[in-house]
Amino acid sequence: MTAQAVQQSDLAVVIGLEVHVQLETDTKIFCGCSTDVADAEPNTHTCPVCLGLPGALPVLNRAAVESAVRVGKAIDADIPEETTFHRKNYFYPDLPKGFQITQYDAPVCQNGELEIEVEGERRTVGVRRAHLEEDPGSLQHKGGNIDTADYTLVNYNRAGVPLMEIVTEPDFRGAEEVRAFLAKLEEVLEYLGVFDSQRDGSLRIDANLSVVEADEIGDDGDVSDEALESANRTEVKNISSHKGAEKALSYEAQRQKNAVQRGREVEQETRHWDESRGITVSMRSKEEEKDYRYFREADLPPLQVSDWKRELDIPELPDARRERFGEEYGLSDEAASKLTSTRQVADFYEDVASEYDPDLAATWVADNLLGELNYRDMEVTDVADRLGEFKRLVELVAAEEITTKNAEETVLREMLDEGDDPETIIEREGLGKADEGEIEGAVTAAIEENPDAVEDYHAGEGGALNFLVGQVMQRTGGSADPGSVNQLLRERLDE
Ligand code: ADP
Ligand code: MG
Ligand code: ZN
Repeated sequence: MTAQAVQQSDLAVVIGLEVHVQLETDTKIFCGCSTDVADAEPNTHTCPVCLGLPGALPVLNRAAVESAVRVGKAIDADIPEETTFHRKNYFYPDLPKGFQITQYDAPVCQNGELEIEVEGERRTVGVRRAHLEEDPGSLQHKGGNIDTADYTLVNYNRAGVPLMEIVTEPDFRGAEEVRAFLAKLEEVLEYLGVFDSQRDGSLRIDANLSVVEADEIGDDGDVSDEALESANRTEVKNISSHKGAEKALSYEAQRQKNAVQRGREVEQETRHWDESRGITVSMRSKEEEKDYRYFREADLPPLQVSDWKRELDIPELPDARRERFGEEYGLSDEAASKLTSTRQVADFYEDVASEYDPDLAATWVADNLLGELNYRDMEVTDVADRLGEFKRLVELVAAEEITTKNAEETVLREMLDEGDDPETIIEREGLGKADEGEIEGAVTAAIEENPDAVEDYHAGEGGALNFLVGQVMQRTGGSADPGSVNQLLRERLDE
């Protein structure tokens, strides 16, 4: 079949990812400089090592390796007996040494996998390798973009922040799968405590994309190695968000399909995702491995890591926890998913569920707390130090010291809006539950003042009782429980 004869509908997309993840460590990967650089003045978190001054020697950060091994355990990767570091040589102003220390033929994680779910279907994405490396510095183009700027500033605060590059097999068949993978990956990394998605630039994605004829793809989604190798692919750089990935890949897939359909060959090249214009643009012909002149980093000895895998623990991961929440607490899939979305939410739920009814805890954490936070564009991390207050609110509800309605509609909302604790709000708004005497008095008054309604009640009119309940509720400022008011009224009216 000639290229011209190929219809767009006969083409399928193949995608593989190289995901760069910043690991959360206190110090950089080869020196003692702090990684806490978000608000730092440019070039203040630097030293001879991360500036690449002659004679400075790298010292490997144990915490970075531990994080990498934990990631390896979570994705079920092989951790080799020995892992080594290499120099990847290239010149760019953000790389003061003229090479990046990375890993090459013995990366710390090999042959892992991660399961994703798209539209109810589960698929396993292979992770070819995941290796440690150092982040380069960052460039700031002034007065334009990379092509048009008047000048460019360089900041080496980021140089040497530990990165893990996670390279997948070309197992994705569409942008939705990529999005599901990235979400899952972030979730797992956050559970492991090695990653912070809120940190600017903590996840950066290069995506490789090619189009093949649809009948090259088997029922199980597999593509033959020959088809993969013969397909010309582009590598799209500079993707920094899940949404960006989906947009960039949809664009690039269409661009390649159009080219093939017009009988043109797709150039094997590196392209740049231009977020503001929503297009990918050609950067350069794709560099090859031999361009980098990889050789062993002689300043770092080989590292024996196989034992670390046994010695290091990882927490229960989101999928397992979700399943257990369903079984142990009888939660729906939806509730279990919400409650395991982050480790902090899951821990908080279990803390509350261990003391109060698991269903009550689920309603309070999944629906009320997460719902109100979401409405305010907030995350649980924003109220991390106030979880004790939320737990006290659940306790007040469980002990029937306050009505559910008042707790949800007044106390919780004011806690978030005003920052006060539940007791202060209850006191200020007079929301403590009315005592029995107060309720009895309100019931008597409601009966005495509404003879018509009492008559209607005795005549069998259902609405009359609701009206009387409403009267009592009003008198007690909503601090009585409607169910018991209802009962009390009926008892008195039926006397
Ligand atoms: P390179 O060394 O050129 O970067 P690799 O073989 O290491 O190439 O693969 C890099 C990425 O390209 C991997 O994520 C892999 O899944 C992906 N990839 C390989 N072949 C294809 C293809 N035909 N289409 C899309 N992605 C591919
Ligand atoms: Mg590559
Ligand atoms: Zn340093």
